[in-house]
Amino acid sequence: MQKIIDAHIHLSQRRDDALIRFARMNSLRYTLDELMGTMQRLGIEHGLLLSPPMQGASILPNDEIIRLCRRSGGKLAPVITVEPTAREVRAAIKLAEENKREVRAFKVRLGYVKASVESPVFSGFYDYAESQRLPVLFHTGDTAFSTGDLVRAHPLTLDGLANKREEMTIILCHFGNPWFEDTAELIYKHPNVYADISGLTTGQGVYAEKYSEWLARKISEAIYFAGNAEKVIFGTDYPVTRHSDALALVKKLDVDERDKEKILWQNAQRVFSL
Ligand SMILES: [Zn+2]
Repeated sequence: MQKIIDAHIHLSQRRDDALIRFARMNSLRYTLDELMGTMQRLGIEHGLLLSPPMQGASILPNDEIIRLCRRSGGKLAPVITVEPTAREVRAAIKLAEENKREVRAFKVRLGYVKASVESPVFSGFYDYAESQRLPVLFHTGDTAFSTGDLVRAHPLTLDGLANKREEMTIILCHFGNPWFEDTAELIYKHPNVYADISGLTTGQGVYAEKYSEWLARKISEAIYFAGNAEKVIFGTDYPVTRHSDALALVKKLDVDERDKEKILWQNAQRVFSL
């Protein structure tokens, strides 16, 4: 069986989880049991677990993410989400420090929070991530809710940060959808910039198949532009995208089979030290 790493998973097991809407559209139960079963069945050896948004503007507390990871029997590793207040930045660094052996990355919710990527509130946290060699995931592109801020979530906002922080590994979530070409330029230009292909499809509309073909073409072309697939990372964004749909997208890519292996696990293993 092929090895797979899912670098973008959400879970809370709480009823006020704002992603339940997506779970319903995908006919998913969105529970730890279901997730573990699916990962086992599909040969997904490891996953990175990120805090989902909750009803209102909050997120699932990061310590609950660490707790869920401990219940996964070593399958899930925590990603600490960093919100833009001095207090939350301090708490995130403290939690990462206390759980150094488990924490694999940080996440910033660009487009959902009232701060841009170069907001001074994040500087101490970027210093820490850089010094610990912990990658930082950034939400980029389309937002899951109509109130999102697309200007702050645009992939090109990461260019300045990547210039200033050459030692920091930056991962653009969702390939900046629909700005695939901008993301292609970023991963081509910066040695420290990567992109994941998570959360690009939900449910089954009339044009779902055509849309999936369009996505496969866009991602394949980004790989041609970058000249290789070293910077592209597989993820589902469970429960936003079903595992079967996320894997079908990789299958559709018009790239070498060895590059699909890189996308499915080799790049993630290297970047997140899994
Ligand atoms: Zn996500």
